[in-house]
Amino acid sequence: MIEAIVARIKQGHRTMRFPKEPVPLPERFRGYPVVKGSACPPDCRACVDACPTGAVTLEPALSVDMGKCLFCPSCSRACPHGAIEFSKDWRLAANRREDLVVTEGDERRLAQALEKKMLSLFGRSLKFRSVVAGSCNACDADTNVLSTIGWDLGRFGIQFVASPRHADGLWVTGPVTEHMREALLLTYEAIPAPKLVVANGACAINGGPFIGSPEAHDGVGDLLPVDLYIPGCPPHPVTILDGLLRLLDKVK
Ligand code: SF4
Ligand code: SF4
Repeated sequence: MIEAIVARIKQGHRTMRFPKEPVPLPERFRGYPVVKGSACPPDCRACVDACPTGAVTLEPALSVDMGKCLFCPSCSRACPHGAIEFSKDWRLAANRREDLVVTEGDERRLAQALEKKMLSLFGRSLKFRSVVAGSCNACDADTNVLSTIGWDLGRFGIQFVASPRHADGLWVTGPVTEHMREALLLTYEAIPAPKLVVANGACAINGGPFIGSPEAHDGVGDLLPVDLYIPGCPPHPVTILDGLLRLLDKVK
């Protein structure tokens, strides 16, 4: 027993200090897109043609829809004018679908905190029931890592639970395949009100790489009211955590 305690003391404290300190990000990390439509020459549509999901549009101005974006980044590579580049800014989550569209000169709208009454209910204890609605599981893997000792999601009062009856919100990954539609809606119904819905990843937001498939619903937005959109394919754990902490007014 004493040996175990000594070993534990030697191991030290392994939980990262985010959000007080930044998280080290990998060299290849691609975050918030920097869009410069003013750099585009007339008639160039290289980025639009390169995008596999229709996330880039030119009308009325060059824009990238982070809800559709896979952060692949074919558009950036195809553009010889540097009109689309990806920064290392991990803050991507938003409350409204339209706030995920990035256009040069537009005001950036990050996720806002829940209203006061909801904050008093969920601010210290927020439980989610996850439904994997046809995902490839990468979004789920990067969500699951938040419950490990390195991230320790529980220190913020946020946890994933086994029953919708014990949950405050629905956590959706995947484009919502037709086979999963009923299960998703039944799970939502089983969560007591008031309740939240989080669309985690490009699939849950807008279909991701499966966009337009007749077997899926292009995300959860047409089926349920979404409170938090977390872009990415998959979203990095720090992007997920940042979105949740913004919702709970624990990060500015
Ligand atoms: S990075 Fe996003 S916007 Fe660019 S090509 Fe890939 S999916 Fe399309
Ligand atoms: S958004 Fe990307 S990583 Fe997440 S489930 Fe869809 S394909 Fe997989």
